[in-house]
Amino acid sequence: MTRRPFPDDSAAAAQACPVCGARAEPFLDVDAQRYFRCPSCAARFLNPAQHPARGDEYAHYLHHENEVSDPGYRRFLSKLADPLMARLAVGSSGLDYGCGPGPALAEMLREAGHEMALYDPFFAPDPAPLAATYDFVTCTEAAEHFHHAGKEFARLRAFVRPGGWLAVMTCFQTEDDRFANWHYRKDPTHVVFYREATFRFLAESWGWSSEVPCKDVALMQRPGGA
Ligand SMILES: [Zn+2]
Ligand SMILES: [Zn+2]
Repeated sequence: MTRRPFPDDSAAAAQACPVCGARAEPFLDVDAQRYFRCPSCAARFLNPAQHPARGDEYAHYLHHENEVSDPGYRRFLSKLADPLMARLAVGSSGLDYGCGPGPALAEMLREAGHEMALYDPFFAPDPAPLAATYDFVTCTEAAEHFHHAGKEFARLRAFVRPGGWLAVMTCFQTEDDRFANWHYRKDPTHVVFYREATFRFLAESWGWSSEVPCKDVALMQRPGGA
């Protein structure tokens, strides 16, 4: 994939955080990429002027391995699926947002008796499921690809019924010293990196509760409901 050229220094000083809108500060320059850090929600993000082009992204996603039948991938997804399913009523309805080319998570949730709708801007682009609301919304290994994270989370939030769940899995950023060499950072389609604190911040700002059942998984619950 070709990198976007490093922009002039007008982009250097400050950027609005794509997650929460606060004023973010320069964090790190590495591989001709400029990253910023948000002092408010603790997200790290790539300079928006350096986001990958849509065509490059699509080519990259085709190589992502997430086969429905792959036991390794299922085990990986169970980090989110197990704690989520433990909190869902029988026969709940869900949306997998950013399902990718092989909707393995939806398959697992269907096997457990839940009804699943799918959406992915590249692989399941029919917008019809986006007109509904759900008992739960899952977003696994997708949020780090969001070019407009704040807008995406506002959208995800609106899909969730009172008492329902938004379940996100993304590799949490932890140590700044390791950021430059972090494999997750090096994926050219990953443009925003969240900490556990970022999800706590989001949930709190919405008036929702949040749980982190294990690293890389955040479960956020909308108040209300039966
Ligand atoms: Zn922020
Ligand atoms: Zn990814």
